[in-house]
Amino acid sequence: MSISQLARSIAESPTLSLNEQARLLREKGEAVIHLGIGEPKNKAPITAILSSAAKLNAGDIKYTPTDGIPSLKKAIIRYTEENYDRVVAPENVIVSGGAKQALYNLLFTLLNPQDEVIVLAPYWVSYPEMIKMVYGIPVIVTPEDGGFVPRLKEIEQALSSYTKAIIVNSPNNPSGVMYPESLIGEIVELCERKGIYCIMDDIYHKLVFDGKTHVRAYKFTNKDTESTKVITINGISKLYGMTGFRIGWVIAARTLTEIMTNVQAQTTSCTSLILQAAAEGALTGLQSHVDTLRLTLENNRNVMLQELNSFSGIKTIKPDGTYYCLPDFRAYNANSVELSKFLLKKALVVTVPGKEFGMEGHLRLSYATTVKDVKQGVERIKWALDPSSPNEIYIGDRKLVRDWL
Ligand code: PMP
Repeated sequence: MSISQLARSIAESPTLSLNEQARLLREKGEAVIHLGIGEPKNKAPITAILSSAAKLNAGDIKYTPTDGIPSLKKAIIRYTEENYDRVVAPENVIVSGGAKQALYNLLFTLLNPQDEVIVLAPYWVSYPEMIKMVYGIPVIVTPEDGGFVPRLKEIEQALSSYTKAIIVNSPNNPSGVMYPESLIGEIVELCERKGIYCIMDDIYHKLVFDGKTHVRAYKFTNKDTESTKVITINGISKLYGMTGFRIGWVIAARTLTEIMTNVQAQTTSCTSLILQAAAEGALTGLQSHVDTLRLTLENNRNVMLQELNSFSGIKTIKPDGTYYCLPDFRAYNANSVELSKFLLKKALVVTVPGKEFGMEGHLRLSYATTVKDVKQGVERIKWALDPSSPNEIYIGDRKLVRDWL
């Protein structure tokens, strides 16, 4: 069969494929614990449901403007003003099918073939693949100190005359770490000075713990939205736990949103009215939903850290936010793909190999689940790996005996 080389080179989404494996195991009645997934257990806000249901009841679901319905764009503009202290025009906003499509449209709009985009490791799995899908080249910067925060010097060393953009995701998937304010300031200053786009993937920006707050990149530029290199991506998936509603957006100069709108018009036309109405309902409704989710996640993070700290060999950097942490498992197995498979087979726990995020030797564990699953999940991992833990465990109603350590 003749298939394009580029399409063939695109990796399967490891997280989506793990979800599928877990689903199949569950269907077989296996007591799988899913610490791989990037979505919480909560229900969508009632304001989102009602707003969406009203459109469905009316039954008049047609194409919408490509860049989004005006009332949703208005809600996004208000959100941007309240959370970013930036007043933007409707022409600066484009609504897409999740932050994922938003980012893809943006990269398609910005890059010429062979243009380079700096990606900071550990990184979200889709960045390098999406860059390749528009014929760009991902240039990975890995912190030399073994931590999760790059230094400006390391970023500067990765620059070339082909560098078009840098993607910043803080708080970060997969590490949960938030970059220091000084680093965000330095990156924005560097981008404005060199004319490089600074793509802020802010999808987790309100899910920050310990009383900390997200750092706004706009704070470090005095340029207006039409001339700044700072571009913001956001969406409802993570903030409201509305992953299935598939709404994300970009805030950028109108010269960019115009082209992005053309790109979207020729590919998907627009996102569904029903989903846009849901997003509008979430953004304009009571924001206590986000606070509740944040507090739940913070508590789950604390439980996970406590459980992980009882392990002698694991090193964990405390996450500042998001749904995830990225402990270092090299004391047990430096091959994260092998380790993740082993844990699924022996302990029925889903984890995501750090290799997928550019951090071999680590596993990404999600605490966007129940406290019970967080506790039992780490307990099972401990049982499978740590010889000092009891060698018997109950998984579902089966008693298992460890016979490999
Ligand atoms: N950026 C990051 C860092 C993410 O983790 C995700 C979802 N896993 C996305 C973007 C995409 O979000 P959406 O569901 O809105 O497409």
